[in-house]
Amino acid sequence: DQLISQIAAGEVVERPSAVVKELLENALDAGSTTITIRLEEGGVKRIAITDNGRGIAPEQLPLALSRHATSKIASLSDLENVGTLGFRGEALASIASVASVRVTSRTANAAHAFEIVGSHEGVVAPSSGACGTTIDVQDLYFNTPARRKFLKSEQTEYAHCAEVVRRIALSRPDVAFSLSHNGRTIDHWNVSEAAKRSAHILGNDFAEARLALDEAAGPLHLHGYVGLPTASKARADGQFFYVNGRFVRDKVLVHAVKAAYQDVLHGDRFPAYVLSLDLDPALVDVNVHPSKTEVRFRDSRAVHQFVFHAVQRTLAQTSA
Ligand code: ADP
Ligand code: MG
Repeated sequence: DQLISQIAAGEVVERPSAVVKELLENALDAGSTTITIRLEEGGVKRIAITDNGRGIAPEQLPLALSRHATSKIASLSDLENVGTLGFRGEALASIASVASVRVTSRTANAAHAFEIVGSHEGVVAPSSGACGTTIDVQDLYFNTPARRKFLKSEQTEYAHCAEVVRRIALSRPDVAFSLSHNGRTIDHWNVSEAAKRSAHILGNDFAEARLALDEAAGPLHLHGYVGLPTASKARADGQFFYVNGRFVRDKVLVHAVKAAYQDVLHGDRFPAYVLSLDLDPALVDVNVHPSKTEVRFRDSRAVHQFVFHAVQRTLAQTSA
């Protein structure tokens, strides 16, 4: 059982940033509005995430660490309409099989917090803390040295973690985030609007040279900002695409945006953008791989055309 968990963990928990992603998604699924991320040694030594979400009742704490015990999917047909970010019920169990995990949580109506340490077999004990949840993950891969060997330098692992935080923070301006590494606060973003959050994360030259986009057609809705080439210092890695709230890297979408830039601006410059595509969940399969950023559209031609034309029309305003 432990071995199966560790093998599964290899899939879900490739590196510290994958843990950060899973924990952040859980915090968001719990309705949190403030999330604190504390990392030590690139996340290998410690990833501690505290949220102010709805918390986990004490009798649910062992379940949270059990494989395939999710509170989020009631039936198979729900799989078609996943509204939450996590739905497989294996992330925490997988993480707990390759690291030391402590879950401390307090629901709104509880007199105090409770905690569980180690695995679903751990004892639930009283603890202290505000409403919400802290998941403290220490010594990642301590029991799987082969995996640990694949990790890169502390700075590289940290950079991957920070990128995951940026991606999620960009898509959730309604949530405050703060990120620290080795005791030093690196980033802090207050609750704000999408325009401000993206300026904050992508920098002022993006904020000063971008066009807002908001177009809908049938079940497809695209909104966000496309940067102009004059945003010269725009980061090379400043391209963000979200589908139903999830960050994705998708060939169809990237191609559609690129083609629109080339069509209007003719250059081979490819500025920063932050775009969100929302569509009926039945029209997209996000179930391709838990830790990957892939999606599969039922009708990728229609999606491509829609995104291409929306970005093209928006950029064309510059030459009008
Ligand atoms: P999933 O997110 O797929 O349901 P996880 O293993 O990520 O599975 O989490 C297991 C369960 O633990 C969740 O379904 C949820 O009930 C609970 N949980 C985990 N993290 C949090 C959190 N930060 N706040 C509230 N509940 C949480
Ligand atoms: Mg989850």
